[in-house]
Amino acid sequence: MYQINENYLKLPGSYLFSTIAKKVAAFTDAHQGERVIRMGIGDVTKPLCPAVIQALHKAVDEMGEAETFRGYGPENGYAFLRDKMVEFDYKARGAEIRSDEIFISDGAKSDSGNIQEIFSLDSTVAVCDPVYPVYLDTNVMAGRSGDYDAAKGIYAGITYLPCTAENDFTPAFPAGKAPDLIYLCSPNNPTGAVMRKEALQRWVDYANENGSVILFDAAYEAYITEADVPHTIYECEGARTCAIELRSFSKKAGFTGLRLGATVVPHDLRKKVKRADGTTEEVELHALWSRRHGTKFNGAPYIVQRAGEAVYSAEGQRETAEQVAYYMRNAHYMYETLKKAGFSVYGGVNAPYVWVKTPGDMTSWEFFDTLLEKAAVVGTPGSGFGPHGEHYFRFSAFGTYEDTVEAMARIQALQL
Ligand code: PLP
Repeated sequence: MYQINENYLKLPGSYLFSTIAKKVAAFTDAHQGERVIRMGIGDVTKPLCPAVIQALHKAVDEMGEAETFRGYGPENGYAFLRDKMVEFDYKARGAEIRSDEIFISDGAKSDSGNIQEIFSLDSTVAVCDPVYPVYLDTNVMAGRSGDYDAAKGIYAGITYLPCTAENDFTPAFPAGKAPDLIYLCSPNNPTGAVMRKEALQRWVDYANENGSVILFDAAYEAYITEADVPHTIYECEGARTCAIELRSFSKKAGFTGLRLGATVVPHDLRKKVKRADGTTEEVELHALWSRRHGTKFNGAPYIVQRAGEAVYSAEGQRETAEQVAYYMRNAHYMYETLKKAGFSVYGGVNAPYVWVKTPGDMTSWEFFDTLLEKAAVVGTPGSGFGPHGEHYFRFSAFGTYEDTVEAMARIQALQL
């Protein structure tokens, strides 16, 4: 008789976005003709830029000719893309990453979910709270947590690092023994906060001193506007011996539907292991991820990797920067308007998310209901991202400018 992986039963279900969808559907049914403005989604809305479209067309044509057709690509991804990343994402920032340390993938979600596979099942895990749910859920699925406590909104056996206004949304080191795996995300989803150079350097030092690994999610790196915020963890000294970095083309260049990302595993990330015969050896995490990647993944499509390469061309850089600037104009507008309306407002400066404190002692869901019922505006309740997200609310800057302005006008008119 087969058994199922009962760790899946610990997951409370994808409650957040399905509940939002149900509530919005009920509202639109009851208020025919009223236009709902959606500020909740984390998906981009602008089409791919011309440089990317041109590269896609060219690559598609290549696939139709015998001389230029490509089948399975290199396991790590094509060098033409990895070399561009080395030059623009790392060298340009003073970070030392070699081309063969980059593994091209179909996005940061799968990598951030799969990376835990190369670590032992009894590894201890720390996540920020609130947090992008993938880090936590995939470790629960693998069996690194105890049961979910619905009243507290937390899993037993997981270390939560609270990120609230009181600590400027920057996690402090946990009390007691250092966790083995530490997930950090800067700029952060959902809080929009960033880890400044000094703060991130402290985490790198902590990880090196304690033998921990940092899994650093840089998916929103392109949205950084301030100078003292690292775009890659490898800007910090010593990160090559303790950090794996996850990158994405989704928010940087609008590839959410095209799918492209990368994971960086430096060769200096090594672990001493004892073999059954009593000998010891140093194993590179790079070798493990390479094995996993080569076994379970057959590469991002050639045409998509060419599109990724085009992001680094002069036109590609200019055009994607314009898209990012468009979204950041929305973020800035929201930040300023909500502040003027009396809200405590965070994020929005180096990230496409604005994170607000709910008025009075309203819960995140009460605020959600109020906005939907009275302003026909949809956002995301902070409590859906973890218990310390309660009494906060996330607005996304990925809509149109016109919708952003109208949504803010509707919220201002509420006089909450
Ligand atoms: N990491 C974070 C923090 C995200 O918010 C998201 C998407 O919203 C992802 C990763 C997923 O990125 P990708 O589209 O590359 O899978």
